[in-house]
Amino acid sequence: MSRVAVIGGGSVGLACTLELLRDGHSVSLIEPGPFGGSQAASHGNGTLLNPSSVIPVSCPGLWRKIPGYLMNRDGPLTIRWSYLPALLPWLSRFAAAGATPAKVAAIARALRPLLADAPALHLALAQDAGVGDLIDRQGVLFVFPSRTAFAAEALSWRVRHDNGIRWLELDADELRQREPSLNPRYTFGLLATENGQCRDPGAYVAALARHAAALGATIVPNRATGFRMRSGRLQAVTTQNGDVACDKAVIAAGAWSEPLAAAAGDRVWLQTERGYHVTIADPGIEPRYPAIPSDGKMACAMTPAGLRVAGQVELAGLDDPPDWRRADALLAFARTVYPGLPADPPPERVTRWMGHRPSTPDGLPVLGLASGCPDVVHAFGHGHVGLTAAAMTGKIVAGLVAARPAPFVLTPYAATRFRP
Ligand SMILES: Cc1cc2nc3c(=O)[nH]c(=O)nc-3n(C[C@H](O)[C@H](O)[C@H](O)COP(=O)(O)OP(=O)(O)OC[C@H]3O[C@@H](n4cnc5c(N)ncnc54)[C@H](O)[C@@H]3O)c2cc1C
Repeated sequence: MSRVAVIGGGSVGLACTLELLRDGHSVSLIEPGPFGGSQAASHGNGTLLNPSSVIPVSCPGLWRKIPGYLMNRDGPLTIRWSYLPALLPWLSRFAAAGATPAKVAAIARALRPLLADAPALHLALAQDAGVGDLIDRQGVLFVFPSRTAFAAEALSWRVRHDNGIRWLELDADELRQREPSLNPRYTFGLLATENGQCRDPGAYVAALARHAAALGATIVPNRATGFRMRSGRLQAVTTQNGDVACDKAVIAAGAWSEPLAAAAGDRVWLQTERGYHVTIADPGIEPRYPAIPSDGKMACAMTPAGLRVAGQVELAGLDDPPDWRRADALLAFARTVYPGLPADPPPERVTRWMGHRPSTPDGLPVLGLASGCPDVVHAFGHGHVGLTAAAMTGKIVAGLVAARPAPFVLTPYAATRFRP
């Protein structure tokens, strides 16, 4: 058995840690922040466990839309002018990644096995940690103002169907019966029945960390800075506060993984796609399902703290300050989705959050052995689907550490795909 250092204690790092402990390794978990804390994307995401989320953000015709993203500060995707020069190399690869229907279909095929069964896999992890009640498997509603609006997304739904994703179609009446709190402007819906939800992702990650510690993981409250190698083999992960001796290491530091991957021999294209959420406590409505309105491009879901509305893609730097207008835009649209929400909730009932999706241009994570050292495993870059994909990622990583055959082909996730 090996001594494994896992770098990063978000949902991905925790799932890896628990699978490695299950295999009998001795695990050090290196995380400078609080487990489940707001520094991590795993804290404030849309809560959805969506095996149906196989469609990349990059889509045919994206290039033509980029000027609009630069000019329109109110849309669901915005780019900060000041960040454009630094962003351009990633942005050009992003636009190219989904430029044709065939490319979109290939990405979807690659993502599918990483996401399939996610609600069941998370339920098992959560139950082991004593928080099985945080995982729901009720399905997720996709709602449209009309069948025409649904038809406008025909490519993505056809690709989903080709990948075995199934749903129930709901007309206006059926939608109303399923979800009375929804605005009647939504007259067509799909219930993606295999999707689920983690009702409180921050509490979930914190519970997984407590469980990992109880199973013997050593918690190292430091920031990893690189690797110490000898003759091509790993000796330790270096941190701001000393070395962590290990035979294997896993890079699971989300949006902060790029310099660590470079230290392990791989140049990767990783950006933060910043996103926001707003939570309205005591919202006065009780939606039964999480919902994604097609005209809002956001996730709306009940959490123990209230209604959480999460979304927005803001391309800006890791250290740039939040632009809370993005969160306000989510709050304003939430009232369009649920007319029963209070028009002007008191400020103490509204909380806002900004976080960093770790995003590659093609929307696929980086998963596999590092080029510079076979003892280092990449497990980052899960973009919009990292909570969903975390559970299967943990299994893949444990398999790589143990040199077991992977359950599906990992080539699409290789760091080497970024080489010129
Ligand atoms: C608004 C929004 C909505 C989203 N909605 C969904 C959704 O509904 N469903 C879904 O599946 N996904 C969703 N996502 C994406 C998902 O949240 C992320 O893909 C996922 O949380 C990434 O997990 P992670 O563990 O890789 O990274 P993180 O959760 O960001 O964790 C990384 C951790 O690494 C630590 N770290 C950083 N640097 C170092 C270092 N040098 N050394 C040690 N530790 C370090 C950080 O402190 C952090 O705790 C959403 C994201 C956003 C922003």
